[in-house]
Amino acid sequence: MEEHTATFEAEITCPKCRHCQKRTLRNLVNVTTDPQLKLGILTDSLFMMTCKNCGNSFLINHELLYIDEKADLTILVAPDLEKLDLSSVRLEAKTSINRIVTSVIDLKEKIVIFDAGLDDRAIELSKAYITYRNTQIENLRFLMQDPGKELTFAISDTNHENQAIKLEYHFYEKLLKLTQNHAESDDYYLIDSNWAYNLFSELARKE
Ligand SMILES: [Zn+2]
Repeated sequence: MEEHTATFEAEITCPKCRHCQKRTLRNLVNVTTDPQLKLGILTDSLFMMTCKNCGNSFLINHELLYIDEKADLTILVAPDLEKLDLSSVRLEAKTSINRIVTSVIDLKEKIVIFDAGLDDRAIELSKAYITYRNTQIENLRFLMQDPGKELTFAISDTNHENQAIKLEYHFYEKLLKLTQNHAESDDYYLIDSNWAYNLFSELARKE
């Protein structure tokens, strides 16, 4: 893993025309000391690049350590996760909630979840439940909550149609209890759809 020292120079290739251009990227974002960077993540501007040759705009996915001391949260974006030996990864984090994601899009979703005061494990279980009932889903993201009432998720289906799907808050609460009763050890960082699927499978075996 690279050392995380705030900024580095990278050669970025446009996925459309293969034109190369330089860009300064950040591999450390501490929103406790640089709160404005959070907006850059949530609006994608921190990762957006426009090709000087063909005008194509695209997201740059790269390794990044995100720290929010106030939220007690550290998230490592590791696009080359397959190359990491997860059992050996130890985030040198001073926070109690520590996660690994594989893309800057996943990072954004985690931030939105934690900012809403929700538990990302219960959100992943909610998403697994929605996916189980809607087989046409291609992409599913947590969007927002109406506190105590309902959660809204954004879906795009296999025809690239976008829509919102709602889940009652009390159902989320049930899933939250489930995660609390089957808590992983704290050093398990990868909370994604596979994690949710494995937990449901494990519970089904026990029944
Ligand atoms: Zn281009």
